[in-house]
Amino acid sequence: MYTGVYPNKHHCWFIWQRTPGDSPFGYIDRFNLDHLPHNVYSKYAMYKTGLSINQNNSQVPGFTIFFDTPVEHWGQFRPCVDGKWTDDDLLPYPTVFEILRERGIPFRTIGDDAPDLAKSSIAVEAAGFDPGTDWTYYYIADIDPLSHKYGQESKETVEKMREIDELIRVKYQEFERQYGDEFDFLLFSDHGHAVVEEHISLPDTFVRGGYALDDYIHFVDSNFARFWPRTAEEREEIRNALAPLEEHGMYLTKERQRAYNVEMPDNRYGELIYYLDLPRTFEMPSFSVFGREMSYTPVSMHGYLPDHDSMDGVLVSNRPIQSSVPELVDVPPTVLSSLGEPVPEYMDGTSVV
Ligand SMILES: [Zn+2]
Repeated sequence: MYTGVYPNKHHCWFIWQRTPGDSPFGYIDRFNLDHLPHNVYSKYAMYKTGLSINQNNSQVPGFTIFFDTPVEHWGQFRPCVDGKWTDDDLLPYPTVFEILRERGIPFRTIGDDAPDLAKSSIAVEAAGFDPGTDWTYYYIADIDPLSHKYGQESKETVEKMREIDELIRVKYQEFERQYGDEFDFLLFSDHGHAVVEEHISLPDTFVRGGYALDDYIHFVDSNFARFWPRTAEEREEIRNALAPLEEHGMYLTKERQRAYNVEMPDNRYGELIYYLDLPRTFEMPSFSVFGREMSYTPVSMHGYLPDHDSMDGVLVSNRPIQSSVPELVDVPPTVLSSLGEPVPEYMDGTSVV
C-alpha cells in the first residue's frame, strides 16, 4: 500500500525473516546468552535490548512470538524493514513518501509514529489543519487491536468506530471549508477480520506426533508456521508432525506463492510454510511481565488468503471509484494521480479514482 508493488518485488512479506548473521539479536549468540537458563523477565530484557539496538524501528511488535521461540534461534531473525514507513531506502522500491519527497511535493503524515499505534487517532485529533501541504495522510490504527481482542462487531470496537467516524467528519469539514469540493478524499483500510473459532497449539500438535517443535528452526505468526529444515529428515519429521493439520490448511508451495505474488528470491520467509486457514489460528502463549498482561487470546484474526471476502478492506472516496475490486497496490498510483503526478511504470497498481 506504500510502494504500489507486490511483495515479490518489495520483498517484505512477513515482519520477521530469517537472515543468519544479521539480526538485532545477534548479540545473544556472541555472548553465549542462549546457554543461560531463561525466564519471562530475562527474555523480555533480551527482546528489549535487541530492539533498542535499532530503535528507529517502529514496526516491530512481537515479544509474544519470541517468548515461545527458542532463545538459541532468536539471533537468526530480523524484521523485513528497519525504520519507519516514511523513511528513505526502506525497501528495494521507493514508498509513495519517498517519491513525493524526491519530487518536492509537500505532504505530511499524522498518527503513523504515535508511541502507541493503538491510540494513533489521538494524534490525528490533535493535529491542526495545515493548508500548506498537498497531501495529508492520517494514519488511524485503533480498530485492529480492538477487533483482535473483542471482535469486530463487539460493543468496544463499534463504539471506537463511531468515534473515528466523527473524527473523520470533523477533518473532512476542515478541508471542505478551505477547498469547497476541490479536494480528493480517499479512505482505505488494509485488511478485514475473521472470527476465530479454534486456537490450535502447535507445540502440542508436535508432541502428539512424537516430536518437539523446538528441535526445528521455526517461526509462528498467528496462522502461519514457517520452518527452515536443516536436513531432509527434519523436513520429513515436520511434515509428519503437521499431517493432522493438513485438512485445516495447506503448504504455500512455490506455485501458490507465485499465484499470490509473494514468491521470493530465497527462503528468508521459510523453506516450508504451512498456512492455517480460517476460522483457526495458532495459540499464542499467555503470560505477564511486571504484572502487565502481555498477551490475550484473539477472538478475531487476519492474514488469511485474500480470496476470503472477510479479508477485504474498505475504500471510500468523494470521487467515483473506477474499479470493481481495488487492491492495496492501487493506493500509491491513486495518490500520485490525484496530485497530478505521473505514476511510475513499474507499479503493479493503477489509479482507481
Ligand atoms: Zn492485526
